[in-house]
Amino acid sequence: MKICRFVTDADPAYGVITGEPGEEMITQLVGDPFYQGIQEAGVAHKLDDVRLVAPIIPRSKLVGVGRNYVDHAQELGNEVPTSPMLFLMPNTAVVGPNEPITLPAFAEEFSYEAELAVVIGRICKDVPLERVPEVVFGYTVSNDITARDAQRTDGQWARAKGFDGSAPLGPWIETDLDPEDLRITGRLNGTTVQDGTTADMVFGVAELISYISQAMTLLPGDVILTGTPAGVGPITDGDRFEAEVEGIGTLTNFFRR
Ligand code: MG
Repeated sequence: MKICRFVTDADPAYGVITGEPGEEMITQLVGDPFYQGIQEAGVAHKLDDVRLVAPIIPRSKLVGVGRNYVDHAQELGNEVPTSPMLFLMPNTAVVGPNEPITLPAFAEEFSYEAELAVVIGRICKDVPLERVPEVVFGYTVSNDITARDAQRTDGQWARAKGFDGSAPLGPWIETDLDPEDLRITGRLNGTTVQDGTTADMVFGVAELISYISQAMTLLPGDVILTGTPAGVGPITDGDRFEAEVEGIGTLTNFFRR
């Protein structure tokens, strides 16, 4: 099931997307599927007639995973971590598909990072590996935008990875997906610059969620950004970046300074 959040001329609402590409319809839901389940509101819209927004309401936290693909760790001259390398992003980093992102003035060098993102569906702590599927609501696409110069000079990555707009999510949440071997591609102004597969993650989705939940309680709507394959590079004013994950869709954003 594809679950989106969208705006018409009213307040944002959740909906379920159905139909063939180009002719998709959205069945509006009552309230928030994280807390109220899938209850249809009896209203439908054409996908083309709405504006999609980030598919989660960022109430709590985003957890990032650094250097989780060998080829990406190596391209930046870093060691491959022996345990998951975690960082936090504030909920204010989230923006939705097709939104313009203003790159902040405190840095000069910004990079795209196309990633698979995991959306948590229930309160959980100390999740054993075999029970991780019970706590996953679904998957979406992210772009872990990074101020690379600030990342190199700051002891922590809060500025480099956590500025406003640094974590676009979307275009929707896919709830029926096996994350083990999905192609991840990134396109900068239409040119493919990243082409990897989640099969190459150092630590897989189940390991990551189990590991993170040993440190912190995960809440419905929390998002885990699982790392990026090789091919990262600069973005600047006027650029368009598309992050695509097989089985989910394409997240497009525009950049300005
Ligand atoms: Mg990343």
